Amino acid sequence: MREIPHFIAGAASPGHGERFTPVYDPVSGTPQARVPLGSHEEVDRAVRAAAAAQPSWAAVNPQRRARVLFEFKRLVESRLHELAELLSSEHGKLLADSRGDIERGLDVIEFACGIPHLLKGEYSEGAGPGIDVYSLRQPLGVVAGITPFNFPAMIPMWMFGPAIACGNAFILKPSEKDPSVAVRLAELMMEAGAPAGVLNVVQGAKAAVDALITHPLIQAVSFVGSSEVAERVYSCATALGKRVQAMGGAKNHGIVLPDADLDRAVRDITGAAFGSAGERCMALPVVVPVGEETAEALRARLVAALRDLRVGVPADPQADYGPLVSAEHRERVLRYIQMGVDEGAELVVDGRGLEPQGAAAGYFLGPTLFDRVTPPMRSYREEIFGPVLQIVRAATFEEALALPSGHPYGNGASIFTRSGSAAREFAARVGVGMVGINVPIPVPVAYHSFGGWKRSAFGDANQHGMDGVRFFTRTKTVTARWPQGRPGPTDDQQSFVMPVT
Ligand code: NAD
Repeated sequence: MREIPHFIAGAASPGHGERFTPVYDPVSGTPQARVPLGSHEEVDRAVRAAAAAQPSWAAVNPQRRARVLFEFKRLVESRLHELAELLSSEHGKLLADSRGDIERGLDVIEFACGIPHLLKGEYSEGAGPGIDVYSLRQPLGVVAGITPFNFPAMIPMWMFGPAIACGNAFILKPSEKDPSVAVRLAELMMEAGAPAGVLNVVQGAKAAVDALITHPLIQAVSFVGSSEVAERVYSCATALGKRVQAMGGAKNHGIVLPDADLDRAVRDITGAAFGSAGERCMALPVVVPVGEETAEALRARLVAALRDLRVGVPADPQADYGPLVSAEHRERVLRYIQMGVDEGAELVVDGRGLEPQGAAAGYFLGPTLFDRVTPPMRSYREEIFGPVLQIVRAATFEEALALPSGHPYGNGASIFTRSGSAAREFAARVGVGMVGINVPIPVPVAYHSFGGWKRSAFGDANQHGMDGVRFFTRTKTVTARWPQGRPGPTDDQQSFVMPVT
């Protein structure tokens, strides 16, 4: 069986004497490879390789570091199809969706190519007599990224693009469910000219994560995954004095006002709820029509739209989405569907029992629609992360606005309306981190930053944009006075009081 290696100090490194876990093909439900579960020793080896490489990488001038990233982007683009196929074969998302996963990651690489400009500090001439003050942004050293299964290319690139551009060395711990793309990306980064040790991949699960977040040489940890793990990583690593950004789960709401273009909204909501089988943290699993008339019209259109959805294999160009990532995850989603039924929500479309193209053993699940879901229901309060859409009816704008604001998660929310003032009011008042106005998946472009509120994110710094640069650097402020060669006003004074300007 194919074995997926670690990537340490510039070379693929097989697991030695470690435990392994299978990597499944979500279409057939059979193991297709195995990946080592990295141990403390493996993590330590990678961290030491990174620590050895980092000082000279930081000393490379930023425009030369940017050139490596330009070349990396070119190499990834030239292998886009091969990488998308590899990604789909382990994740199960459609080929076109895998290309999108990689391309949205490359957007952040492109942003990081501007690092000479992004690293420019501030300068104040004449802040005191003969005194100039300037600030520098310096890399942290060795930093780590721990990533989820659902974007195996984009999310690693969110992290290692800015981190490496800033002059850090990086250890990536990808999801053990779809770990191959990470290794290919690290290989391409070496081919692009990054020195060995600047980007390392340690495979594994909890033990590897624990070894990383407690390692004394790791200065910062960027995490994306479920909220329970995000919170634990955040509290454990910050207690050890590390800088941490930890993004968690989500339950994004789409508010539909009576004046919305309903046909357009239904197309948008269906794509955002069921694309990638609902396995996106910016999916739209809850829709909130305002008023009974809107609710009835929306429901009828959604039922019709779901009837036309095609669930298929990643290479099927007609398919709307593919299988879920694992049997375990599919079981979890099925439990939530049963929970919704038991809690009294109305199951309008039942996706259970679907077997597309005879792939009975694959992790497929048909589109599922619930109506009359209410806020106290557990299936509403928790993240399902599957092809399940819940309608929560609201009588007024205020009632609709209160739903995402009062929900434990706060990643994103969208509003569908023709009213500029309603949209503006919604954007100003809703209690989430990312807002869409007639945009169903408001993932910010690379030069803005990505991050939620409440249980969707722990820590202060968002991903990419200037927040990414700030997260992976620390500021040093220099106050300088140079001898003037002729006696200056303060040259022979000695002072024991706090200098004032
Ligand atoms: P997960 O939390 O199970 O795993 C994330 C990472 O943590 C993986 O690398 C995994 O190996 C590791 N991990 C798992 N359990 C661990 C433990 N007990 N201790 C230490 N490390 C552990 O998440 P997932 O299932 O891979 O991804 C789906 C989740 O990620 C969803 O909740 C989704 O909303 C979230 N997500 C959030 C964002 C965001 O930006 N907010 C983006 C994508 C995904």
